[in-house]
Amino acid sequence: LSLELLVRAVIGPAVGAGQEREVSAALRSYLASSGPSVLRLLSVLEASLRWYLGWRGAPGNPEVAEAELDRVARRLYEKPYLREAVEGIKALVLLVWGANEYAEEIKEAALRNPPSRPDPELNLVPAGQAQAVLAADVVVVGSGAGGAVAAREFARAGYEVAILEEGQRYGVEYFRNEHPLERWRSLYVGGGINVCLGRPPIVLPVGRGVGGTTLVNSGTCYRPPGRVLRKWVHGFGIEVADPAEIGPYLEEIEKLLCVQPVPLGVMGRNGRTLLEGASRLGWKAGPLLRNAAGCDGCCQCALGCPHNAKMGVHLSVLPDACAQGAVIYTGARAETILMRGRRADGVFFVDESGLRRFVRARAAVVVAAGALSTPLLLRRSGLAAHPLVGRNLAIHPAVACAGFFQEAVYAWRGVLQSAAVEEFHESEGILMEATSTPPGMGSMLLPGIGSELSGWLRESHRLATLGAMVADAGVGRVLGRRRPVVVYQMRQAEAARLLRAIKRMGELLFAAGAREVVLGSPGTRPVSSPEELAAELNALAPSALHVAAFHPTGTCAAGASDQLPTDAWGFLRGTDNVMVLDGSILPSSPEVNPQVSIMALSMALARQAARRLGHG
Ligand SMILES: Cc1cc2nc3c(=O)[nH]c(=O)nc-3n(C[C@H](O)[C@H](O)[C@H](O)COP(=O)(O)OP(=O)(O)OC[C@H]3O[C@@H](n4cnc5c(N)ncnc54)[C@H](O)[C@@H]3O)c2cc1C
Repeated sequence: LSLELLVRAVIGPAVGAGQEREVSAALRSYLASSGPSVLRLLSVLEASLRWYLGWRGAPGNPEVAEAELDRVARRLYEKPYLREAVEGIKALVLLVWGANEYAEEIKEAALRNPPSRPDPELNLVPAGQAQAVLAADVVVVGSGAGGAVAAREFARAGYEVAILEEGQRYGVEYFRNEHPLERWRSLYVGGGINVCLGRPPIVLPVGRGVGGTTLVNSGTCYRPPGRVLRKWVHGFGIEVADPAEIGPYLEEIEKLLCVQPVPLGVMGRNGRTLLEGASRLGWKAGPLLRNAAGCDGCCQCALGCPHNAKMGVHLSVLPDACAQGAVIYTGARAETILMRGRRADGVFFVDESGLRRFVRARAAVVVAAGALSTPLLLRRSGLAAHPLVGRNLAIHPAVACAGFFQEAVYAWRGVLQSAAVEEFHESEGILMEATSTPPGMGSMLLPGIGSELSGWLRESHRLATLGAMVADAGVGRVLGRRRPVVVYQMRQAEAARLLRAIKRMGELLFAAGAREVVLGSPGTRPVSSPEELAAELNALAPSALHVAAFHPTGTCAAGASDQLPTDAWGFLRGTDNVMVLDGSILPSSPEVNPQVSIMALSMALARQAARRLGHG
């Protein structure tokens, strides 16, 4: 069954004649590999819609059919109890539609300039070609922010290092030439359909591939704020987080990643709008620091950088680890850690055909599978006896807002995440950043459905888009053994912060000259003054907020107290040689984009351990 009717119901006349067939086919193939159960559900809905329209006698007359479909879609969308489901469908359809609609523009921008640097030499071995039994001094699971840095430290200290990475290696030609939807599907766990259970449900994508989530992240580089470091030292006993101690590691990371401020010349209108609005309001703001020297503002970070400008760890850290002898096994999913008493003996992993292999670890196993997968690996290995493994999940929830301007903004022509307002960061835990998505892929922010949504889609070049993240407590939990099931029930405190964040973003957009502001949450109306904004926000229930999150941390928190699963040196309690060195060990939200915090902690703890462990 095709999904053409459903596609048309969601985006109405924005789909040109016959285009719904293409979008429907792309949606089906995307869901067939990433969400077969969602596909089944959508097929049932499509069949019901078909039956209903047939019953109303609509197919005989295309105009009647169009109007009837629009009416049905709007009626369903207006029902508060159906809204979450309809929003989910809308988000999926818009993702696929946007990727298709702008595929050519995305490719043109990708090919506009040659890559800043070639793909580096890495020692890569597809897991299927590895021997059945291997050995190394240190086995690192995961090649993302934490794992790559740990691997480099151990390799530089003379350890033989094997990295197991579930994903593939993606090179710059893939990012330059592949269709945006395929890039999205392959670079994210579960094809990017990862949702936390709770009210509201929260989208939580994480990356997969050599380089982990740094392959698809926005490149923003924040140091952890002093107040957070003090909490980690004095509240959790992580001595290495002392500003004087961690400082040199932060500097080293920034040097490795080539961190520098976004130049105004490539920032684009979206970032400049934030800076103009903030300056009129007297708010503290500025260009972001990023690890993307040579970025030409093609706005595709979330799909892998087609210019090799963004220095994810696959370009900045892993080449050095490999030059020191580390080997990366790709398509290698770590299944269990084999324990002998308190010592890890090695790791069983499977290749893509499901064949099992074993890599012996003479000195240590480093778990760095990311905050959603690390607890699962520990659980499968019988290492999750500590009650806090999988708990204490902070996600740094985020909301978005858009301003409608008279003149064209083209938010996606410039740096994807480019400038920030820090005025409310310390006082209210709100960090606002000018963030776009690749063209067409963020349209879920737009209000309405059917013909109403169509109108907004046609005007999307006039929108400036902002995002704001708020500091949160570790109230979430990761369940499951194979696939993460994430539960995150947002507290009142964070919901109130998110509402304040929307208010601040709206005020800024009006100050920058926006005619209207779109609040980004389903059921809200666009507003045309700060007063209307305040009134609309008063009526907005926290459970109706449209929230996304990109920064999971804390599910195997480190600290001096045995109330926490990992000790202050990064060793899993109850073991002698299993370390956890990824976002999981952050004991509380870093309150900023976390990659630099994760890398600096990983570097400091791995360097200490390399001195302590001895070579097996
Ligand atoms: C869209 C997006 C934008 C972001 N933007 C920013 C930003 O601008 N700045 C910033 O600081 N942060 C950003 N982040 C977050 C940041 O990238 C992550 O916090 C960081 O990469 C997490 O590091 P990690 O080591 O914990 O895990 P990851 O980097 O996610 O690495 C984990 C790796 O482990 C692999 N793995 C998992 N399970 C297994 C297994 N069983 N066997 C083998 N391998 C396995 C995964 O495939 C993955 O490659 C962003 C995140 C997203 C999703």
